[in-house]
Amino acid sequence: MADLRLRFPGGKRRALTFSYDDGLPSDVRLVGIFDKYGMKGTFNLNSNTYRPEDGEPSENIKIERSTMWTRAKKSEMQALFSDGTHEVAVHGISHTPLGNLPVYEAVERIICDRVAHERDYGRIIRGAAYPNGSFSDTAVEALAASGIAYCRTTTATRSFDIPKDWLRLDPTCHHNDPQIFELAKSFIESDGKDPMLFYVWGHSSEFVIDGNWERIERFCELLATASDLIWYATNIEIYDYVKAFEALIRSADGTLVFNPTSTDVFASVGGKRDVFIPAGSTVTV
Ligand SMILES: [Zn+2]
Repeated sequence: MADLRLRFPGGKRRALTFSYDDGLPSDVRLVGIFDKYGMKGTFNLNSNTYRPEDGEPSENIKIERSTMWTRAKKSEMQALFSDGTHEVAVHGISHTPLGNLPVYEAVERIICDRVAHERDYGRIIRGAAYPNGSFSDTAVEALAASGIAYCRTTTATRSFDIPKDWLRLDPTCHHNDPQIFELAKSFIESDGKDPMLFYVWGHSSEFVIDGNWERIERFCELLATASDLIWYATNIEIYDYVKAFEALIRSADGTLVFNPTSTDVFASVGGKRDVFIPAGSTVTV
């Protein structure tokens, strides 16, 4: 039986996603860069740490290392994410690291954040990133119990493998990783047959502090040169797509494939030819 390998929408073999933490005033500029290149990101916000609405306007705040973590106002984040292009995800109600918490306390910090985001942004929220990258088996248990589908760590893999353990989701690298441009080049030029995910994380305030906005501009510009090969998506869009692919049902001899989901799926048969398996349909491969 020929193996069936995941292909992203449009039959693309590559996907790119971003994950940025903390809900910072500089997220506005970062979203502007992603929008310019048609790319999509996930923003992990803490619902209890917004700056007061009557505080200094963000454009007046001079970000220095001491004020690096000055948060955005809730209204600014709501305006930024109102059109649903980018994903809002859980980051714990007040950024307390989850790794050493008992399960009931971790659940409270996750579920309260999820409820607040769902109310504030008017959509279902199922993603998360670990505050300070701190996790444990207990934290994973708490996330699963809170209906969270995936949660990002800060452990760089420098690889493009499709995640298997979504509640311990390791990114490819941070945006300041010295190898990021080499990785980007090999991502674009790879002629393998397996699907690839490039996953970048960071904090937008780091671009302000490090004075390196050109780094993310250059990265996006480089990956935009291969837009016909790469699917740009949020974290949850990638999760949902991979799960739809994994839900495909095959006949005993493998020649029939049924897609029981509501997502159209692409696959490669034996790494040789691509097939399209529409939602709810059975296809001969
Ligand atoms: Zn954080």
